[in-house]
Parts: sequence; C-alpha cells; structure tokens
Amino acid sequence: MKTNTNHIGHRLVFYVHDELDERETTYIATHLEQCAACRGEYELIKKGAEMLASLKSIPAPRNLWDTILRELRSQTESFTEDSEKTHLPKINK
Ligand SMILES: [Zn+2]
Repeated sequence: MKTNTNHIGHRLVFYVHDELDERETTYIATHLEQCAACRGEYELIKKGAEMLASLKSIPAPRNLWDTILRELRSQTESFTEDSEKTHLPKINK
C-alpha cells in the first residue's frame, strides 16, 4: 500500500482563520512551503476569506431596501393592472 502523503486538506480553512494551535500552524506552514497543491488550495481559501471580509466591511446603502421595495411595488402594480385587464370578465352585450 502506498504511504498516504499527509496533505493538509480541510485544515487549511482553520489555518487561514488562525484557529489552530502552534504545532499545527507550524506543520502547515512547513507543508505549504513544500507542497504546491496545498499552497494553491491555501491561496484560494485565503482569497475567499479576504473577499468575505471586504464584503462585510462595505455598508449597504441606506436606501437600498427602499429602492428594492419601490421597484417591487411598481412591478407588482403593473402586473396587477395587466392581470386585472386580462381577467376582466368580458361584457357581452
Ligand atoms: Zn500537500
């Protein structure tokens, strides 16, 4: 049986978020220096975490919800008007 290379795998996520003890952090740092595959994965996870962090720091515009509501309302209104027209019973004279 082939010896299983001890890749970092899912522990990279904890490493990125700095949630590992010192021994594991050192192990992963050393492994990253030697293993291109894990390094690539690490870069991806790190970018994702950075993106999330920057998203959280951007405050949503205050009028965003108002705009959405207004947009929804106007769409609903025009939809209702249209459907009322279509569903109006035809008056047979
Ligand atoms: Zn590896």
